[in-house]
Amino acid sequence: MSFSELGLIPEILQAVTDAGYTEPTPIQRQAIPVVLAGHDIMGGAQTGTGKTAGFTLPLLNRLARHASTSASPARHPVRALILAPTRELAMQVFESVKMYSRHLPLRSICIYGGVDMNPQIQELRRGIEIVVATPGRLLDHVESKSVSFNSVQALVLDEADRMLDMGFIPDVTRILNMLPAQRQSLLFSATFSEEIKKLADTMLQAPVL
Ligand code: AMP
Repeated sequence: MSFSELGLIPEILQAVTDAGYTEPTPIQRQAIPVVLAGHDIMGGAQTGTGKTAGFTLPLLNRLARHASTSASPARHPVRALILAPTRELAMQVFESVKMYSRHLPLRSICIYGGVDMNPQIQELRRGIEIVVATPGRLLDHVESKSVSFNSVQALVLDEADRMLDMGFIPDVTRILNMLPAQRQSLLFSATFSEEIKKLADTMLQAPVL
């Protein structure tokens, strides 16, 4: 099977070709059509399986109709939120988002703690469609009113089991409660404990497994 059979737009197929990928991995074959169709997902996948492209490619595809070359911040509200447990993981996902969106006028940012907030605030104020973030620092930005979630249409919770292990679920829950109820949600985890299933129940609607 080739990527071109999955229903992705030419700008994204070009980015996939640029990355040197010739065929989708199993999780990509399963996830891409489901995310493109707008369904929620509960995905069991570890790092190294290609899961990042599995959710990023179809999310970018869905955001492409909002892509705008306008300089106005109002034309670039936050539309997709991707939460990761650590700075390193957030950076990795962000690199993928940048690579796969290179042929589209969509803006993305990576937000994590331990660094000055001001450059992140400046960038957020310019308007940005895709925010990849660790939960704690994202909440700092909520408190300083530098980010609004009114236009969020997609949420990804990556490595949910590690979020749980690191004690981030209360922060994640606070963020979930601020998002529009009408949205697409994707949860990825290497393991599915009772706690993860409970979280999935509160965050996902009729998810495809
Ligand atoms: P991930 O599991 O998302 O962390 O991806 C693991 C690695 O696989 C990354 O370095 C990707 O660039 C690479 N990758 C993702 N999808 C493909 C693919 N379809 N073909 C070859 N490599 C891929």
